Amino acid sequence: MQITVLGAGISGVTTALRLQSALPKASINITAEHFNSDTLSAGAAGIFRPGSGLRGGAGQNVGDWIKSSYNYYSSILASRDASVAGIMRVDGYLFSSGEESVVRNPLLENLLPIYRMATEDEITEICPDSNFKHGAYFQTMVIESEKFLPWGIQKFLQAGGTMTQKKINSFQEVNNNNLIINCTGLGARKLCQDNRVVPIRGQVFKVRAPWIKMFYYGDYDTYIIPTSTQVTLGGTRNFDSWNTNSDEFDEASILARCSKLIPNLKNAEIIRSWVGLRPYRDQVRVEFDDKLWSEKGIQVIHNYGHGGYGITASGTSEEVVKLVLEKMRMNKSKL
Ligand SMILES: Cc1cc2nc3c(=O)[nH]c(=O)nc-3n(C[C@H](O)[C@H](O)[C@H](O)COP(=O)(O)OP(=O)(O)OC[C@H]3O[C@@H](n4cnc5c(N)ncnc54)[C@H](O)[C@@H]3O)c2cc1C
Repeated sequence: MQITVLGAGISGVTTALRLQSALPKASINITAEHFNSDTLSAGAAGIFRPGSGLRGGAGQNVGDWIKSSYNYYSSILASRDASVAGIMRVDGYLFSSGEESVVRNPLLENLLPIYRMATEDEITEICPDSNFKHGAYFQTMVIESEKFLPWGIQKFLQAGGTMTQKKINSFQEVNNNNLIINCTGLGARKLCQDNRVVPIRGQVFKVRAPWIKMFYYGDYDTYIIPTSTQVTLGGTRNFDSWNTNSDEFDEASILARCSKLIPNLKNAEIIRSWVGLRPYRDQVRVEFDDKLWSEKGIQVIHNYGHGGYGITASGTSEEVVKLVLEKMRMNKSKL
């Protein structure tokens, strides 16, 4: 059996790598319209932090996906590849002027080595002019997809994988004998005629501010997230907006909110303004497509719809590997 992974964002690349580890003799190809810095994933802030809106299908446990991604990235972080793969540990604060529940995150509290409530003194010292009532301090990671994706693809190719740059308009375009893993993000809306996939527009600034060593979250989608080379300042969340242009009013609002949160950001050098469309689905879709199989004889396993948490929830790729192994057992196929 040959496997085609459709899509080369974080979902496609992590899925291809994990399939390769589980099935070293398999012939695996990544086919995608865009690679590396041309993908949505490359622009993401990259912090490992799931939101409460992340959902799976019936019987699926989002906590397992998150744990799987965390362990996966942690193993790379503990290796010599950490820096070239763009993974680093980062700690910081999440503040809220509303309810305490905003700064709680059961998924992270059960997983991270450090997740605690911030004291009043900490809140006042970091944000003296704010009206924040609650805060959480935690240590997590950032995964810089601009580094991770090329690193992952190189590793994949070195292990015998192949890649094809091509836009697919229907699954029939892929060789019929292939098992297809569909990691096309927002592209799945058209490819699968799945109207449950909806863009959530996000605008950010990438700035140079090497003095920012921690992440900070405030009210109204305000965030400051450092990586090894730059800092992401955000953001916006516009449901069902397909606008990929930077908006001057969003820019002004982001700069005002971030520099109110951390005033020394006023001196940061702006590298670029960036807009991405998060591939939101009310339930992330990770399943074998029975309908395509029974009606068209095409074997497709879906892995899309991660919304604003695709880097964090890339552990869905472990579930894909399980589904592939199950399919192989049922088909009695060998590689
Ligand atoms: C402003 C912003 C900040 C974010 N910050 C974070 C963060 O800090 N942490 C986090 O976890 N997440 C974050 N996200 C969310 C994250 O970016 C997405 O969830 C993630 O990138 C989705 O990855 P993906 O691989 O599913 O999709 P994509 O990266 O969009 O990749 C899709 C791939 O499929 C290919 N494709 C699509 N259609 C076709 C087709 N028809 N034929 C061939 N190829 C096709 C594309 O070319 C591409 O290669 C952020 C998003 C935004 C917008």
